[in-house]
Amino acid sequence: MEYEPVIGLETHVQLKTKSKMWCGCANAFGAEPNTNVCPVCLGLPGVLPVPNDEALRLTVLTGYLLNCEIPRFAKFDRKSYFYPDMPKNYQITQYDKPSTANGYVEFEFGSGTGSGAGVSPASPPLARVRITRAHLEEDVGKSFHFERNSGLDFNRAGVPLMEIVSEPDITSADMACEYLNALKEILVQGGVSDCDMEKGMVRCDVNVSVRPVGTKELGAKIEIKNMNSFSGVRRALEYEIPRQIEVVKKGGKLIQSTRRWDDDAGITDEMRTKEHAHDYRYFPDPDLMPLAPDEAWLAEVKSRVVELPVARKQRFMLDYQLPAGDAEVFKSNVGLGNYFEGIAKQAKNPKAVANWVINNLRAKMAGVNERRTGIAPVSLEEDPVEKSETGATPVLRMTLADLRFQPAALLELIGLVEAKTISSSAAQQVFAEMFDTGKAPAAIVQEKGLAQVSDTGAIEKFCDEVIAANPGPANDFKSGKAAALNFLKGQVMKLSKGKANPALVGEILERKLKP
Ligand code: ADP
Ligand code: MG
Ligand code: ZN
Repeated sequence: MEYEPVIGLETHVQLKTKSKMWCGCANAFGAEPNTNVCPVCLGLPGVLPVPNDEALRLTVLTGYLLNCEIPRFAKFDRKSYFYPDMPKNYQITQYDKPSTANGYVEFEFGSGTGSGAGVSPASPPLARVRITRAHLEEDVGKSFHFERNSGLDFNRAGVPLMEIVSEPDITSADMACEYLNALKEILVQGGVSDCDMEKGMVRCDVNVSVRPVGTKELGAKIEIKNMNSFSGVRRALEYEIPRQIEVVKKGGKLIQSTRRWDDDAGITDEMRTKEHAHDYRYFPDPDLMPLAPDEAWLAEVKSRVVELPVARKQRFMLDYQLPAGDAEVFKSNVGLGNYFEGIAKQAKNPKAVANWVINNLRAKMAGVNERRTGIAPVSLEEDPVEKSETGATPVLRMTLADLRFQPAALLELIGLVEAKTISSSAAQQVFAEMFDTGKAPAAIVQEKGLAQVSDTGAIEKFCDEVIAANPGPANDFKSGKAAALNFLKGQVMKLSKGKANPALVGEILERKLKP
């Protein structure tokens, strides 16, 4: 019998707010331990939590971005357990009445069953993973274990944390990673979270079971806790799925349990089974009012919804006839995409604009930033300030706002190439100059004498000279050796210092040599 995996993910994401969930302490990474703390987030007796409105908004915004329903009633509960990094001894979370429910995420994957599949004949198929809920809770502190003692840092305690729970719709390790990448892209572009993995802003619990192929009933759910990298999720699944299949194939029985991923050993091991599951004694937090968002509040949140990345890619392919690769660049790099779109709207040939923006502009800006920061950028981020490698002085990154030339200048440059006023190699020179100085393309062409000679009279003279000086190749061509024309063409180009219009040179030479 063959078995297949069934996977559902619970993804925790720190929200991009200035302050924490229930107090005014800064929501900031990297401060000295226990400097962003107060009686509320330290869980001292007698304090009262005050909900962070922006965190509530970002949660509902996530609901909209993930196609969820937004219930008109939500509340916060206390989830009781004891752990040193959580001094209140309960975590405030949304339990049975979350702020959002019943949505889905679509992303490029597999053979495509999603709604957007086939919007454009060239667009890649979409897979859909249903979202059970996205609810709001609070993060806990961090424990450190030293040689002889342990330390606790409560800077992270009370940071707004959103949990996005998926239905068990994921069918492979690859698909789990694609789902996570898609989710991250949506949340970053939506301004919900920076999703910086290195800063622990995204963590996830991986639930996986196996079942005989073709059956519907779910197998025993095994949860791998607290994964903090997408590559870890992949490796954990690549270990855990065959392990489970082997157990059932040998006639063993899997029981619902929680496991831990050991990254060094590359294995999962058991932490606890269902019999030892916690009883969290959930009950409504008596210090917090239930949430009943009104129309105006919801409308304000809805106005912050951005175009979803997959929709954007399909639109770019459809509206501008771009290949998937170009559209992908503009999907992941929103700023560059907007810049392209501003120009492409007025262009006869949007693909030419895309070529200039991706191959020339992006490459040049990447070069500048590499020189400034010493870091080769993977993509052009919008964030203008990047720490230098040593982390000491912030280095100002060049952004699209720093460009010296106007977007219309790019259109003008493309026009000069299309009108054959300049050759494509001269266009590269013009672009380099306008990038450095901001001068107008036509002015640069003039100044540097880069205009192609398309004056047939002048080209005829060059051709006559070359034919006279090279009787051998000229006769070769006349007697049928087509290749000889290239040599003669080369000579004319040389004589014209590269400025003769090559197409015209070919035409004129042929006319002169053909009987
Ligand atoms: P719990 O109440 O223990 O947190 P849930 O039923 O809420 O469990 O599910 C938590 C996560 O586990 C969800 O992402 C869900 O899709 C996934 N899940 C549930 N059952 C299974 C299963 N049998 N196999 C794989 N994933 C599952
Ligand atoms: Mg769980
Ligand atoms: Zn605080």
